[in-house]
Amino acid sequence: RTAHQKKALALFEGIRKGDRRALARGITLVESTRSDHRSDARELVSACARMPRPRSLRIGLTGTPGVGKSTFIEAFGMLLINKGHRVSVLAVDPSSARSGGSILGDKTRMQDLSVATEAYVRPSPSRGSLGGVARNTLDSIILTEASGFDICLVETVGVGQSETMVSDMVDMFILLLQPGSGDELQGVKRGIMELADLIIINKADGNLELPAKLTRAEITNALHLMIPRRKSWTPKCLRASAATGYNLERVWGSIEKYFEGLRESGEWDGLRAAQQEKWMWREVNHLLMGRINADEGVRAFAKTLEENVRSGEIPPGIAAERVVDKFLSSYISQKHE
Ligand code: GDP
Repeated sequence: RTAHQKKALALFEGIRKGDRRALARGITLVESTRSDHRSDARELVSACARMPRPRSLRIGLTGTPGVGKSTFIEAFGMLLINKGHRVSVLAVDPSSARSGGSILGDKTRMQDLSVATEAYVRPSPSRGSLGGVARNTLDSIILTEASGFDICLVETVGVGQSETMVSDMVDMFILLLQPGSGDELQGVKRGIMELADLIIINKADGNLELPAKLTRAEITNALHLMIPRRKSWTPKCLRASAATGYNLERVWGSIEKYFEGLRESGEWDGLRAAQQEKWMWREVNHLLMGRINADEGVRAFAKTLEENVRSGEIPPGIAAERVVDKFLSSYISQKHE
């Protein structure tokens, strides 16, 4: 066995037994960009992925800042725990990838959940590109599952690109809205709405009860005009309140029904298979780009081509082909050295 395999195996043993420190260290490893760490991480993720476990529920949750995501996850997570589930909370935060500060998955915002032994709350990694963060999150999901968490909530901010990535790694996607936000859905958010299997109008309490009803009616109408993503499920809109707990049981009822449909129709298998395939190609893209960037000769060559492309001397497509050819010939000559 190599040193990488030994190290990964030791962590895997800890994770499998439900050791939280091993899980935390495993996720840190998965998030690391150091190349020796990458090899350890690959071993670890493979070991975890091979573990026979009943399939866990991977649920994405999105919404603009302030809509109540963390309040919702805190309340809903506690409800799930009380039903005997073990819940992990991960975050994909595009703003943290840019600014280095994360605003999601903050433990201080989920006070009960973050200290519960049946839950594991992990903040978004504060470094790396969005693509990198998303890729690592998929690996982290696999680690938490190996550690015995049967429901995984992946939180993200509603800004577009991150939703698409998260929806490619979860089985169900939930969009959180506030009362009165129906109009906003005319524009950009429509794309996000099309990804949603369940839309929750949060804050349906106090003064907002009536506006919540109106917004729900509006959204329900809009949903009727959409083509459902799944054969076994038509997207629904529910009112709820993370603050009072109103309708949280119904939300869970809907989620259970959704997964029942996925399971009975066989759609779940197809969905996971398609996701695996998609991530393989994402990884191919990422690895190839990484190798191209690591080759100094190719980088210098590409730099001069960039100038030619900017001035219009060489069309972008032709330049791209030359970069790839240059990389391949450099790769082949290195192999023969
Ligand atoms: P996030 O940015 O989406 O994570 O939103 P937060 O969970 O931090 O909530 C933003 C604000 O909305 C906070 O002041 C919460 O107390 C409030 N809030 C969250 N859920 C509810 C709710 O169900 N009802 C009401 N009235 N306020 C809520």
